[in-house]
Amino acid sequence: MVFSSLAERLQETFKKLRNKGSLKEADVSEALREVRVALLEADVNFKVVKDFVNKVKEKAIGQDILSSLTPAQQVIKIVHQELMDLMGGEYSKINLAPKPPTVIMMVGLHGAGKTTTSAKLANFLRKQGRRPLLVAGDIHRPAAIKQLQVLGEQLDIPVFTMGDKQAPAVIARAAIENASNSGRDLVIIDTAGRLHIDEELMDELEAVKSEVKPNEILLVVDAMTGQDAVNVAEVFNRRMQLNGVIMTKLDGDTRGGAALSVKAVTGCPIKFAGIGEKLDALETFHPDRMADRILGMGDVLTLIEKAQANFDAEKVAELNKKIRSMEFTLDDFLEQLQQVKKLGPLEQVLSMFPGMGGLKKIKNLEFDEKELVYVEAIIKSMTHKEREKPEIINGSCRRRIAKGSGTSVQEVNRLLKQFEQTKKMMKQFSDIDKTIKKGGKMP
Ligand code: GDP
Repeated sequence: MVFSSLAERLQETFKKLRNKGSLKEADVSEALREVRVALLEADVNFKVVKDFVNKVKEKAIGQDILSSLTPAQQVIKIVHQELMDLMGGEYSKINLAPKPPTVIMMVGLHGAGKTTTSAKLANFLRKQGRRPLLVAGDIHRPAAIKQLQVLGEQLDIPVFTMGDKQAPAVIARAAIENASNSGRDLVIIDTAGRLHIDEELMDELEAVKSEVKPNEILLVVDAMTGQDAVNVAEVFNRRMQLNGVIMTKLDGDTRGGAALSVKAVTGCPIKFAGIGEKLDALETFHPDRMADRILGMGDVLTLIEKAQANFDAEKVAELNKKIRSMEFTLDDFLEQLQQVKKLGPLEQVLSMFPGMGGLKKIKNLEFDEKELVYVEAIIKSMTHKEREKPEIINGSCRRRIAKGSGTSVQEVNRLLKQFEQTKKMMKQFSDIDKTIKKGGKMP
């Protein structure tokens, strides 16, 4: 996950600070020296780091916080605020057109993820009630039109194309007319990229811009390219006056420097983050929540939003009922696991819990994605009766289940034990809940 080593280092620094109790100016300076190194190692722009540390220092030492009751907390609060400001403070919304359709133009270099992100964005905004039309405006890369069509088909979102013989500006103009006539209120135009920025590309993009006057020009950059992404953003912004940046591949092993520097260097906010190859792997970029994640405070809000968008409310209600009546079976257990899986890779989901930001810590927990696959295979190798009443599963059944699922008897045993523990835990929760409702004492 992005920021994992930065998060780990900062959290380590602040832990030391917290353990000190009363703070001296030298303690803060030492902590800030560590913050500086951590940011530089995360590939944050040199000048940005310098400004950042100076601002924090000024605030931390200039006020009375060192003599306050919780000086370490105050320093962390300042760092949190500054991290948030660095990434743009408030999250930045998409500009909607006063009169539909809203036109979004996507720009960026080859391989940044422009075509995929166009489809992801259409999918994302459709979930918010928009009716998108995707436009194949990259007439240079041979497979780009087909790629967008395939993505559109997967999502059941229409794709407008005029082949590769018309100028992109002409295609874009025709697409907007098509959208107006077919009741589409959002037009997302995919455009051509290059390996490097060149004049021809910029001319082509400017022609599209002046023809359709988009409400939003969003630059797609690859977070893995680090400070190059920031440089690209600077050049594109100068020529195209961007409204925002979409930073892709934040799920990868990137150190995160680009995400932390781009707003400070270019003035353009990051509006969305790509966090995977799948078409639902796009999130609104919230600077405050990112700062929370970096400082190990979790990101419960994003988790709740994901759960709301992905969980089937009826199923959750039914599950709740079953837990209360203690009818919770292995089938329900599997269902629950599948629901959690919908939120994204386990590592990403766990990193949003407070205190679980550091990747290493997650690895120590041994939550392995593969394990879920085994759990599924084991439960699916059981008969219906066994799933309802696991206590009937004897030795020979266990051997059969292990064989059927390609696992071992030990693994089957472990799962059954886990299930029993989960059930017990749920009973405890439900007892506490009942007692509270009755106004009684907790058990
Ligand atoms: P384009 O040349 O800019 O249009 O790039 P594409 O849309 O073809 O994407 C290039 C590659 O990046 C594809 O393999 C995408 O699946 C991948 N990609 C795009 N966004 C993300 C992301 O957020 N995370 C990951 N891991 N891969 C991504």
